Amino acid sequence: MTALKKALSGYVAVPMTNVVIDVIEWFEEVPHDMVVRCAGCGKRLFNFKSRREFTFSGASWLSGYYVERLCPKCKRLNTIDVTATKGYPIGDSKRWVCECGGFLGKIDAPRGRIMLSCRCNHEIRVSAIDAAQAAIDDFLSIPF
Ligand SMILES: [Zn+2]
Ligand SMILES: [Zn+2]
Repeated sequence: MTALKKALSGYVAVPMTNVVIDVIEWFEEVPHDMVVRCAGCGKRLFNFKSRREFTFSGASWLSGYYVERLCPKCKRLNTIDVTATKGYPIGDSKRWVCECGGFLGKIDAPRGRIMLSCRCNHEIRVSAIDAAQAAIDDFLSIPF
């Protein structure tokens, strides 16, 4: 086993992408905080986190996700909201840029997807929805 494989062994591959994820927090069977790494080099790229709305009685539902990414240039933590339901965009599709001008990624709003190139040249293209689904599928595949 290579060092990279070993380092990523607890991670879940997201199908059709170049990323692996690790859920560090669940909330009511939904991944609440996912660390996303490049499957090619292991670099930590960003986190997908969920947003929840609460009713007065304390019930809650998933209202969206957001991407939390450290600017590669100035190390500021940036966040941007993305949809939890494909076809219902939150915000607009755009180039996501830090205050300092550092490039953070391209956002595809209707799919809730982020696209960027890793330092190892792997093309990263993944939605929060697909990452969460991969984590749930993986969790359900564990025999009880
Ligand atoms: Zn990489
Ligand atoms: Zn920056």
